[in-house]
Amino acid sequence: MSNDLLNTPKLGFGCMRLPLLDANDQTSIDIEQFKQMVDEFIAGGGTYFDTAFVYHEGTSEAAVRQALVERYPRDAYTIATKCLAWAAPDAETAKGNLAISLERLGVDYVDFYLLHNVGGPRTAKFDEYGMWDFVREMKEQGKIKHVGFSMHDGPETLDELLTAHPDMDFVQLQANYLDWDDPVVQSRKCLEVAQKHGVPVVIMEPVRGGRLADLPERVANVFKATDPDKSLASWAYRFCYNLPNVITVLSGASTLEQMKENVAEWKANAPFNEAEQKAMTEATEVLRSMASIPCTNCRYCVKDCPQGVAIPNILGLLNLEAMTENNEFVKGQYAWQAKAPASECIECGACEDMCPQGIDIINQLKIAAEHFE
Ligand code: SF4
Ligand code: SF4
Repeated sequence: MSNDLLNTPKLGFGCMRLPLLDANDQTSIDIEQFKQMVDEFIAGGGTYFDTAFVYHEGTSEAAVRQALVERYPRDAYTIATKCLAWAAPDAETAKGNLAISLERLGVDYVDFYLLHNVGGPRTAKFDEYGMWDFVREMKEQGKIKHVGFSMHDGPETLDELLTAHPDMDFVQLQANYLDWDDPVVQSRKCLEVAQKHGVPVVIMEPVRGGRLADLPERVANVFKATDPDKSLASWAYRFCYNLPNVITVLSGASTLEQMKENVAEWKANAPFNEAEQKAMTEATEVLRSMASIPCTNCRYCVKDCPQGVAIPNILGLLNLEAMTENNEFVKGQYAWQAKAPASECIECGACEDMCPQGIDIINQLKIAAEHFE
């Protein structure tokens, strides 16, 4: 497939976790450090900046203006931003986000505009507010160069969305080696669906929120034994850089040091050799063996749950906790992934009757409530 977007430099700058002056205040972006990170990124050959209406409580876009737009010619970079229509009270407000984003960014157009986190019940809001036609219209008017959406749901939802909206220029999906064959996230299948539709992909979460840069010792040892000089994060990035049909891979660097490391490792990128591929397979197997709940995400259990508990997602997070040995990190994920939390279970047992894996779901939900709520 030939698509000009695939010529984009493969390291993208995600502006969701920018450096802060006060760790407790998401709006206190350290602009001076951010400027240095931008300089490092652009000097290294990067062009793609990814922000959103809501990042840093609405201040990321203005920070991008200060650190990038006011300091570089418009053709030196591309900007992606996103509209969280499902959180808006009405269509007018949702559509008004674009004008606000353009003003905050100080630009006449954005290169990439995404309907943010489509999927699940949120899709109905994008439909109801007429957001798909709105972005097409804005593209015709030149305010958007490429329209797309981001999504965290599985391949079936992606297939439906791309079938319903075949004119999307790109999609943004979560992918990394841990989620590649994960039964809930299903990165591999999602990327295959995008490729089937001829739609290129921006990859988010290549290091799984930083967790793949900070692995349990017995997993880290597998990588270190193969190449002691390479950082753990570099393995995660290289896995994504060398996938087909990828526009760019978003780095969530939060410091100048991290950005320097990311740029250097990107410049040195090469596909895995045989020994490295073996190490990647082995490390992934070790990680997976640390997940103890055999949920396959068949979702039979969900259909009759009177409480709408997000059972497979919650079980997946228990597995993630076991694999990363990091309760705090998974707790953060749980807060937004488990809309109907484990504690809402009334122990009716309907789910356990349906589970082909014989999982003690009620017991596992109790553990999840203890760990994450
Ligand atoms: S036991 Fe709990 S999770 Fe299972 S179906 Fe009943 S309410 Fe839902
Ligand atoms: S029925 Fe069992 S295996 Fe299937 S999604 Fe539910 S818990 Fe997982």
